[in-house]
Amino acid sequence: MVISAPSGGGKSAVRSGLMKLDSRFAFSVTCTTRLKRSGEKEGRDYYFVSAREFKRLKKNGRLLEWAVVHGNLYGTPVKSVRELLAKGLIPIMTIDVKGARSVKKIFPETVSVFLLPPDLKTLVRRLKKRGEAPENIELRLATARKEIKEAGGYDYLVINDKLSEAVKEVAAIAGLEVLKVRHNLERVSAFSRQLAAKTARQLGG
Ligand code: ADP
Ligand code: 5GP
Repeated sequence: MVISAPSGGGKSAVRSGLMKLDSRFAFSVTCTTRLKRSGEKEGRDYYFVSAREFKRLKKNGRLLEWAVVHGNLYGTPVKSVRELLAKGLIPIMTIDVKGARSVKKIFPETVSVFLLPPDLKTLVRRLKKRGEAPENIELRLATARKEIKEAGGYDYLVINDKLSEAVKEVAAIAGLEVLKVRHNLERVSAFSRQLAAKTARQLGG
C-alpha cells in the first residue's frame, strides 16, 4: 500500500496508527540523504545515507523507486518491500507522488491512498506544530500545489481530520483489498484439491 500526502498531511501519523491497530501492517523503511530530525531513529524512520551511498544503491539496482523531494534524495530499497511481502505482511510505503507512480508501474496491484487534511489552515497549523520553520512551510506548500494535481491518479482519498478515523478508513481499504480473490487463489486451489481428492476416493470405492 502506498500513502502520499502533502508534507504535514499525516503520512507518518497514519502509518504509526495502522501499525498499532493491526500487526499485518509493516513500514517499509526508505533511504534518504536528508539530515535526521530530532527524535528520528536510524532504521526506524529512515536509513540515513550519504549522497554517494545513495548513488551507489541506485546504480546497483537496489532501489525500487527514487525521487528528489525538497532538494533531498529519497528511495525505497527493493529488499525492504520484498522481505515484508515474503512474510505475508502489508508493506506501507509513505512516499511522494513520483515514487507512487513508479511503484504502481512495477507492482500494479499496489493500492494507493492520497491523504488530505480537512483544509489548508489545518495543514499549516500541523506543520507549525511539527516545528517547521516558516521558509520550510512555504517550500512544502509550493510542493503541495504540484502534488495535489496528482491526487486524481490515486485509488482512494482519505481526509485526515480525526486521526483515529483516518487510520480506520485506511485499514478498511487494506482489509477489503486483502480479501480480493486474486490475492487468495492459493486458498481456492487448496479447497479445490481437497474436493478432487474426495471425488477420487469416492470413485475408488
Ligand atoms: P507527514 O508525514 O505527511 O509529513 P505527519 O504525520 O508528520 O505528516 O503530520 C504532521 C503533524 O501533524 C505531526 O505533528 C502530526 O503529529 C500531526 N497530525 C497528523 N495528523 C493529525 C490529526 N489527524 N490530528 C492532529 N494532528 C495530526
Ligand atoms: P520527510 O523528509 O518530510 O520525511 O519526507 C519528505 C517527502 O519524501 C514525503 O512526501 C515522503 O513521503 C517522501 N518520501 C519518503 N521516503 C521516500 C521514498 O523512499 N521515495 C519517495 N519517492 N518519496 C519518499
